[in-house]
Amino acid sequence: AVKNLRKVYNLGKEKVVALDCINLEIPKGQICCILGTSGSGKSTFLNQLAGLEKPTKGGVYINGTNISKLSERQLAKFRQKHLGFIFQSYNLLPALTALENVSMPLMFRGVSKRKRDKRAKAMLDAVGLKGRVRHKPTQMSGGQQQRVGIARAFVTKPDLIFADEPTGNLDTKTTVEVMRLMVKMAHENNETLVLVTHDSELAQFTDRIVTLIDGNIVSDRLNDAHPEDYNPYAQEQELAGEH
Ligand code: ATP
Ligand code: MG
Repeated sequence: AVKNLRKVYNLGKEKVVALDCINLEIPKGQICCILGTSGSGKSTFLNQLAGLEKPTKGGVYINGTNISKLSERQLAKFRQKHLGFIFQSYNLLPALTALENVSMPLMFRGVSKRKRDKRAKAMLDAVGLKGRVRHKPTQMSGGQQQRVGIARAFVTKPDLIFADEPTGNLDTKTTVEVMRLMVKMAHENNETLVLVTHDSELAQFTDRIVTLIDGNIVSDRLNDAHPEDYNPYAQEQELAGEH
């Protein structure tokens, strides 16, 4: 939950109100999209939610903990234990294999090597990469790398997963595949997912669309109509000869 969240950036005498007075409650298991144009405050919002920046006012409550009140060390621990991240640029470790990348967060949690490998393999299997376990990031396509990124985010069963423009570097066909996979994984595992994007088509894959303009929530609606095979890019792909 987010209560009366406000973030003001001070640049000398100038003040930028990046987030005005945001209130939002995201229930467990929901896939919530934060939609907005460039400069609307999406990244600022995500930074506050994930505790990467301290809010000017208000608080961010995850599982009842006001993370805005934690120290840097407590925050780092909290993130490791409760949060997962999926990035636009994948952020995989280039020297490590897919399996090692996925099992890394489990290592930080002190899980034994045998258990780590077993769970990481199961996750790679779940994202359709059974045959890429020993591949390094440079040996995989963008879509495959993001699947590894998804497996890595889900492997620890975090309370909350953040995805910042997760398909920003992918073509439309792969975007649809990756979005479907992410939504399926989240629903199957009852994971809560917060997805940030400027793409209103992408937002249609999620359960709820919260729109930001100039640091304010201007609309918040449930999105019931997204069937399994929903593809907002169908026409565009047909024109481009993809299918
Ligand atoms: P984009 O889609 O381009 O990534 P965004 O929605 O993520 O945009 P933010 O990065 O959250 O937008 O920025 C919101 C506002 O806050 C902008 O007006 C920006 O100039 C300002 N802002 C962001 N970060 C800082 C900072 N560190 N210092 C000062 N102003 C900032
Ligand atoms: Mg941004």
